[in-house]
Amino acid sequence: MPELPEAERARAAIAARGLGRRIASVDDRDTYVCRPHAPGEIDAALRGRMFTEALRRGKAFWLETDGGPPLGLHLGMTGEIVIDEEPSERGFDRFAITFEDGGRLALRDPRRLGRARLDPNLDHLGPDAAEIGRDEFRERVGRGAIALKARLMDQKTLAGAGNLIVDEALWRARLHPRRPAGELSTDELDRLRRAIRAVIRDSLRHGGTTGPFIAARDRNGACPRCGAPLESARIGGRTTYWCPAEQR
Ligand SMILES: [Zn+2]
Repeated sequence: MPELPEAERARAAIAARGLGRRIASVDDRDTYVCRPHAPGEIDAALRGRMFTEALRRGKAFWLETDGGPPLGLHLGMTGEIVIDEEPSERGFDRFAITFEDGGRLALRDPRRLGRARLDPNLDHLGPDAAEIGRDEFRERVGRGAIALKARLMDQKTLAGAGNLIVDEALWRARLHPRRPAGELSTDELDRLRRAIRAVIRDSLRHGGTTGPFIAARDRNGACPRCGAPLESARIGGRTTYWCPAEQR
């Protein structure tokens, strides 16, 4: 499932290879992926323009254009951005841009849960999990009786910390996912923020969400630090794993 590192990789690919190329046409016929737009609407808005900047907040990323509206893209569960590749033979390119130079940028998405839309609304997203400052993190995360895991997953609080990133970070910071968020000390909040940033940094370096705890979690195995069998439960609507010996 794409988390912030996958979105960042897609954004970086477009920043490297998709900017400054004049758009010849847009295939926006998939009205589900391109909702709420009618077919031809995105094409009409972007044709003849070029992307000038690729930006991201959390798992959402968007492309600024020279004089037109920004184009928002979302990878959904299975989507990826492919640039200058032949069209998907299986019809998985749900949205595609053809450049005047003959190249092509597509949202390839087997499950069709990705999204392309003009003027994306980012009001529901908090600050990016990889960028948020210490004071803002303390204020946004460290309040209320809600379970810490649920607080961190709330994209309005913090954008881009997905299920795996949060489990890995809570384990690194030795914090129980059910701790009421408002009970954390400032030291614990600072430790947690550093852990989240470190997990995201590691994942960006490896090109996908990764970490020793995520690997153990996938095997339903033992804590990579102390060997205790991991426990799991649904918290905040998501399957959550933790080390019962160290995360109290
Ligand atoms: Zn442990």
